[in-house]
Amino acid sequence: MCGISGVVGEGNVIPVLFESIRNLEYRGYDSCGMAVLGGNDIAVRKNTGGVDEVNQKERLTALQGSAGISHTRWATHGRVTAANAHPHLSYDGRFAVVHNGIINNYQELKTLLKAQGVEFQSETDTEVVAHLLANAYLEFGTVEDALRAVLKQLDGTYALAVISPHQPDHIYAVRGGSPLVLGLSPQRNFAASDVNAFLPFTRKAVYLEDGEMAVLTPQGYTLSRLADGALVTRPPQMIEWDAETSRKGGYSHYMLKEIFDQPHTLTNALHIPRVEIAALAQSIQQARSTTLMGVGTTYFVGLLGQYAFSQLAGVLVQVISSDEFPEVAVVGPGDLVVAVSQSGETYDTRSAVELAKTSGARTAAIVNVMGSTLSRLVDQVIMQGSGPEICVVSTKAALSQMLVLVRTALELGLANGRLTPQAHNAWLADLDAFPDQLQKTLNEMSGFVRNLAEKTAHFQNWLFMGRGIYYPMAMEAALKMKEVTYLHVEGIPAGFLKHGTLALVDEHFATLAFFPPKAATRLHQQTLAAVEEVKARSGPVFGIYQENDHEAAQILDGGIALPVLPAGVAPLMSLVVAQLFSYFAALKLGRAIDKPRNLAKSVTVG
Ligand code: GLU
Repeated sequence: MCGISGVVGEGNVIPVLFESIRNLEYRGYDSCGMAVLGGNDIAVRKNTGGVDEVNQKERLTALQGSAGISHTRWATHGRVTAANAHPHLSYDGRFAVVHNGIINNYQELKTLLKAQGVEFQSETDTEVVAHLLANAYLEFGTVEDALRAVLKQLDGTYALAVISPHQPDHIYAVRGGSPLVLGLSPQRNFAASDVNAFLPFTRKAVYLEDGEMAVLTPQGYTLSRLADGALVTRPPQMIEWDAETSRKGGYSHYMLKEIFDQPHTLTNALHIPRVEIAALAQSIQQARSTTLMGVGTTYFVGLLGQYAFSQLAGVLVQVISSDEFPEVAVVGPGDLVVAVSQSGETYDTRSAVELAKTSGARTAAIVNVMGSTLSRLVDQVIMQGSGPEICVVSTKAALSQMLVLVRTALELGLANGRLTPQAHNAWLADLDAFPDQLQKTLNEMSGFVRNLAEKTAHFQNWLFMGRGIYYPMAMEAALKMKEVTYLHVEGIPAGFLKHGTLALVDEHFATLAFFPPKAATRLHQQTLAAVEEVKARSGPVFGIYQENDHEAAQILDGGIALPVLPAGVAPLMSLVVAQLFSYFAALKLGRAIDKPRNLAKSVTVG
């Protein structure tokens, strides 16, 4: 994710362009840049850092012009460097491009361009677009036609804004999988990632659909379909939100927005190139031992990973909480330590990785923030590409990390012969289908989850339990629930119940049971038995189960019946429902959901 903004208008638009990109900074903030049309040239200024920092370094606001584009980056391809910051210029300096998204086939295109003698200035996927435009312009003679031709060659996701002195006072904007919206006013027109860019200047907006191109001038705009050039008419709408609501995409909290972002962020995790996943699997295969490491939510991500590696690849990996790593880990040359972190700055995880390195172990990381300390520290890194997570409690970042570990386990299972190619492909197909199923379930089930959360909000104590792979789900769900509701919530493997925890149960002590699909007969029976034990002590029990599970439905005091899903993705679906449950419970209790008391987003101290 990143922010892009372009403005074209009468007179000097740069102060407005600068403010518009600053308003998008929450979408990504590792580097920033601006390109402005002046006479026959394009001036580009860019550097690493947040918008104000880059302005101080590069004096963005000293630029002048009546058309410009800008970008605040959340790097996916290429390190966080000034050269990799956007905008990117074509080899002839006649096109400047900003991009939000990922060009999957950029390596191929780069190889072709290099063969023609084009020199690349950055490591990004984006730069190919600028050079391709220069080539296509020679062939087609107009910016618009050049853009159409280039887009046919791109595979991936994009929102692009382009300027060129070939067509002064014009901004070209296209959408293919990443958001883009026009802001319209008599003085100037905008093309931006979201309405925050221009809300202080205009509330009149036109949202682009995928496969559409907008051409903006100071006086107006045209909208057309990329495929056949047909003009599109779409009446503008007036945005009534205040700036804060708008940053949350209309959701009342970032937590809810980020829960609903998950179909998209999972798709990003599914698009991480297979070679990267296979390389991590290979490191695990070659290692004497593998340790997964995280702390808080990422510890539970690791725990999920442990089950995935055992079940899919027949390889038992250890999971250690980063804070305890120095006390318990025994690693050295030949061992692999895989750290999981959203921010890549978590002190406990960073110092544990440093320790592992000093001991001679190989290190790897799954991280969301490119350029973060952890991503630079390790031998091997997978960038999960979930975009900024603003809510203090992690939802979308954690779920994507789980998916990355499941993909890695599948790759390892294939490599070591534990999985046949057919089984491996069947699994991948289930994963691929998951984002759509999740979207549907989120749309259809939220009301039910809210009802259940409101109905049960008076309970002060909770037990979340699950067996097998539902145990890490119950643990992570319990952590989520305590973080946002401040209630006492214990997560346990359901098998623990009769070995102690049952002593807590009475009619005031609520339980949430995570049911596996009925097809997992043994686990299912064990979960039912645990629920019976609680019920026998008058404990109210709620559950997350599949809709064909009549036994669960009958015994529970309430719950959420989910569609029947393949075994590989069903646990992830339960977790999303539990995230929503925590959110609605916290809402009912009036908690500070996005910034719960006593917590910080990234714990950078020991
Ligand atoms: N893939 C591009 C890059 O890494 C754009 C990332 C973004 O959306 O900010 O530079």
